[in-house]
Amino acid sequence: MRIVITGAAGFLGSHLVERFLKEGHSVVGIDNFKTGTPKNLAPFRSSPRFKFIRQDVTEYIHVPGRVDAVMHFASPASPIDYAKYPIPTLKVGALGTHNALGLAKKRKARFMIASTSEIYGDPLVSPQREDYWGNVNPIGPRGVYDEAKRFAEAMTMAYHRYHGVDVRILRIFNTYGPRMRKQDGRAVPNFISQALKNAPITVYGKGGQTRSLCYVTDLVEGIVRLLMSKVNEPVNIGNPHEITILELAQTIKRLTGSKSKIVFEPLPVDDPKVRRPDITRARTLLGWKPVVPLEEGLRSTIAYFRGR
Ligand code: UDP
Repeated sequence: MRIVITGAAGFLGSHLVERFLKEGHSVVGIDNFKTGTPKNLAPFRSSPRFKFIRQDVTEYIHVPGRVDAVMHFASPASPIDYAKYPIPTLKVGALGTHNALGLAKKRKARFMIASTSEIYGDPLVSPQREDYWGNVNPIGPRGVYDEAKRFAEAMTMAYHRYHGVDVRILRIFNTYGPRMRKQDGRAVPNFISQALKNAPITVYGKGGQTRSLCYVTDLVEGIVRLLMSKVNEPVNIGNPHEITILELAQTIKRLTGSKSKIVFEPLPVDDPKVRRPDITRARTLLGWKPVVPLEEGLRSTIAYFRGR
């Protein structure tokens, strides 16, 4: 296949590029390096099956030649990034999704939107199933990301229903692994970089809020299966193993052998109290489930951060 990936220089984008090239596909990567980094693509630049276009996908996307799939992964994805770039976040989810869908429609390619567990907001039910509509504050600091992704899902379904585009809606839950940025701001990279420097580990609130963390190779396997499936409705991909943020901090402290103190800082506005995917749909429709246990994934991620 010839696959277009927006956000190719990001954490997930670059893992997808790697996976598809390894399987013999051709990839056209697009990125504007707002939150992605050229370093993530360095190993692939010499491949004759990899082409790179530097552009902002909120502008018209022109990809000459055959295209079999368009995967729209471009977006700031960390709360500190979407606080820093609120308008680009809204635009890439709205205008960027529209352009990426337009490309898929023109080339008769299948389309995948990287959606998110954030569309469930601060959920009132747990675990979250795909038929839960969510509890989102549209005007809070996270609203720019949550609402852009909700709009992106609506736009994707509209192109499916109205134009007959063959779509995939992927709802990604918290994911971690190598190629996350040290200064990414999310819990795993923050805690690991703090622990490796023996600096205070900053737990927000009392640390009783939960997340369910998926290792990147598991996520990529789920994404590939969804892309290759015929499933047009949304599918949660994530690891249902739920832990508190305080437990996460303690685990990272132990695995790094750090002398860091765990300190408590104010909880950000609208920080979801719980998050856990119901993955029944992924299990039954894609035959997928995560296989990398948390400590194993954290060890590989810690090794990557040590190397940096
Ligand atoms: N968090 C924390 N300390 C940090 C970074 C994050 O306690 O240095 C908390 C954050 O408040 C949230 C959880 O960890 O409750 C996960 O945050 P992250 O930014 O990784 O992703 P989110 O799931 O909130 O988008």
